[in-house]
Amino acid sequence: MSNNDIKALRHSAAHLLGHAVSELFPGTLLTIGPATDDGFFYDFLPIRGFKEEDLITISQRMQELAAQNLPLEHKEISKKEAREIFKDNTFKLELIDQIPGETVGLATQGTFYDLCRGGHVASTGLLKNFKLLAISGSYWRADKTKAVLQRISGTAFFTAEELEAHLKHKEELALYDHRKIGKQLDLFSFHQEGVGFPFFHPKGQLIIKTMKRYMENLHQENNYQEISTPTMLSDELWRRSGHYAHYKDKMYFSTIDEQSYAIKPMNCPGAILTYNTRPRSYRELPLKLAEFGHVHRHELSGVLHGLMRVRAFTQDDAHIFCTLDQLEQEISTVLRLTFAMLKKFGFEKVNLAVATRPANSIGSDELWEKAIAALKNALTKADIPFSIKDADGAFYGPKIDLDIEDSMQRHWQCGTVQVDFFQPENFDIGYIASSGKRERPVMVHQAIYGSLERFFAIVLEHHKGNLPFWLAPVQARIMTITDEQKPYAHTVLATLKKAGIRAELDASSDPLNGQIKTAQLEKIPWMLIVGKKEVAQETVTLRNLDGTQEMGIPIKNLIEKATQLTN
Ligand SMILES: [Zn+2]
Ligand SMILES: [Zn+2]
Repeated sequence: MSNNDIKALRHSAAHLLGHAVSELFPGTLLTIGPATDDGFFYDFLPIRGFKEEDLITISQRMQELAAQNLPLEHKEISKKEAREIFKDNTFKLELIDQIPGETVGLATQGTFYDLCRGGHVASTGLLKNFKLLAISGSYWRADKTKAVLQRISGTAFFTAEELEAHLKHKEELALYDHRKIGKQLDLFSFHQEGVGFPFFHPKGQLIIKTMKRYMENLHQENNYQEISTPTMLSDELWRRSGHYAHYKDKMYFSTIDEQSYAIKPMNCPGAILTYNTRPRSYRELPLKLAEFGHVHRHELSGVLHGLMRVRAFTQDDAHIFCTLDQLEQEISTVLRLTFAMLKKFGFEKVNLAVATRPANSIGSDELWEKAIAALKNALTKADIPFSIKDADGAFYGPKIDLDIEDSMQRHWQCGTVQVDFFQPENFDIGYIASSGKRERPVMVHQAIYGSLERFFAIVLEHHKGNLPFWLAPVQARIMTITDEQKPYAHTVLATLKKAGIRAELDASSDPLNGQIKTAQLEKIPWMLIVGKKEVAQETVTLRNLDGTQEMGIPIKNLIEKATQLTN
């Protein structure tokens, strides 16, 4: 079935919902009922608020109407006729006024009719595989100043199997929602006192720190130098960089000594000022300035979503200043780092695309051609397949978009590699070439995680909370069968800690089963069990989170194993 057909099916299911509601709750005003990406909804002005249990009654009525196999008919009628039919529904009247032309579409099934532009299945008999999912609030025209409506949403498929698979998938997504895992594992929280600003608890902060340290190492090994630039910088700077013009609505402002300042929404201007503090020689290029920049962006409260969408986050930013001839080499390095990182975090499915020159862009043809060739060559030489997003680059340069697929088949747009011809001109960035002439470098904006907070959330969901050993905030917990083994357990703990393993001792007096249960809930990758035999042999029994066990491991071997899993 084509995508179009499923849209027709779901739109028809919305009609069926409207039909059932208008029969069960006469007087309810119907507004709009479109298909969405994964289902459909209908917005109503109800005579009384819908309750959760109404969904059952409505579903039953919908099933009955589906069983009647009513043909769905569609015809064009004059606006005059339509205004007469919908004279008691101000919403439909408003829609009729807004439809261009002299006629509007009317959909009919049995005694029910609805204003509609068309695109249906043939009869209600095809609509048996649906499920109503939620009642929520909405506004007419999504406008808070307009009528408050109630939305009933659901989904529909052609077959019962497809519907069931979809519902199961949704259940899985809800089960492994990072907000839920974050709470369960005590990683982070949000508070009314700072809407959209995450608080990281000790274990969450440890994960963020570990992610940072990993990226710091990649940076160091590849000749990036870390800088730190201020959180607040003058308005003037943001006006010059263009952020003010394009981004003002998302920026926070404050005043210092009667001068207006903005909290940085991006780190680029800071890196540029750092570069421009003195004349640069071609010998210094490529100059790669990395910064874990904490940026603030005002997102509307309605779109905030755990760590996925916040108002303050940390970027693993880097700005590369290089010559056009060095660009390909630098892009190759960025790609190498990106793939190393993705592998480390357990992502295997990655899609890359090169976004090319859009209309109304700046820079010469030669500059664009060379830069795009550099991006493509770097990908080709690394044997990385990619697609082309034609004319989808920014007005100031081409870029590589990176999309990763997680374990639940969702796609996430993560890091970017963005070439920039604009800021070097705008901020008069230069270097002295070997000829002695002042030349313009190319600038590249690089972020591999993108937002650390968001990437953290994606990783949590991807692994369903079972973080890989190297990233787990507590890597090992030692458990004893009786208190007799406690002294030996303390020795093991000290040895593991000394080796850099994040280990703990279960100090409770719970029986072993209880201790295991607790560690499982906390998703600790290694449970190290110590009994009489282990003490005598100076070993431990390793129980993994999946329940597999390895008996009698000497501590030295355990440390080796940990090192292997970490590097
Ligand atoms: Zn329709
Ligand atoms: Zn930047």
